Amino acid sequence: MPSCNTCGKQIEATARICPSCGALTGVHMRSTDASRIRVLGFSSAAVVAFFAFVLLRWLGFLP
Ligand SMILES: [Zn+2]
Repeated sequence: MPSCNTCGKQIEATARICPSCGALTGVHMRSTDASRIRVLGFSSAAVVAFFAFVLLRWLGFLP
């Protein structure tokens, strides 16, 4: 069983946040969350670009 880096208490191996002190344990944080944020950012940027394209085309700036 791993222990918390902050308070030293034993925590679940899958716990992302220490139930004792609330510190982040770093378990499954970087890969999943970072990729999810990246996908979220990309999709929102794509939506913004799409609406900008539609708006520009609607206003007659594009052929
Ligand atoms: Zn802790």
